[in-house]
Amino acid sequence: MKKIIVANWKMKLSYLDSLALAKKYQSSRQIRDSVRDIIVCPDFISASKVAEILKQKPFSSGAQDCAMAARGAYTGEVSPADIKAIGMNYVILGHSERRDQLHENSALIAAKVKAAISEGLVPIICIGEKLIEKQSGETRKYLRSELKKSLAGVKLKPQDRLIIAYEPVWAISSTRGAKSMDPEEADAIQEFIKGLAVKILKKKVPVLYGGSVSSDNALAYLKMKNIDGLLVGAASLDVADFEKMC
Ligand code: PEP
Repeated sequence: MKKIIVANWKMKLSYLDSLALAKKYQSSRQIRDSVRDIIVCPDFISASKVAEILKQKPFSSGAQDCAMAARGAYTGEVSPADIKAIGMNYVILGHSERRDQLHENSALIAAKVKAAISEGLVPIICIGEKLIEKQSGETRKYLRSELKKSLAGVKLKPQDRLIIAYEPVWAISSTRGAKSMDPEEADAIQEFIKGLAVKILKKKVPVLYGGSVSSDNALAYLKMKNIDGLLVGAASLDVADFEKMC
């Protein structure tokens, strides 16, 4: 299986800067000729234009969130059906910034996962322990509970796809004092997550690593057996850095 690189642009760029970066990705030979699958996740305002610019392989695109239903009285929300309609195939759900700043809980995330799958999107579900769980030796216990709750009631049909992103919150660059995780340690946790996912979903799914990945450490993660790809935040905004990773 090809390894996957997800670029999460968060809300870091203006509308015009998002289009400019998509064009830079598109015109970079190193990125375009990558042997990896590159999934670009811009903000909603630039989503349809970025999806249009990056519609050829190795690119695909995704949203950074979606509503828990395809249609209805959900003021301010964005339907997974419309994300699909503008040519995106993926959606990041349960990112730690949303869990933390917007108080999204795992029950809501499970509802979004189900809505996304019914509309034909591939959810990229983020899970990860905070420093407090790591320091108290509760990482595995926490991840088991977070994954179970974020997948509650999710039933995959044979054609459905789903991706898990393991993102220790203490390693994400937006966390104060963040530092990347040792690749071997990440690999061991990812093996644990893969086992859990098979038990819950009765299907093998890819598990990505995310947290302060840059061109300096990307290869060390990508070499690991249980790391099927990377979710990259800050470093995806730097074309030179992203080219090296791709
Ligand atoms: C992220 O936002 O999911 C992320 C991993 O960010 P960064 O690569 O900047 O740590």
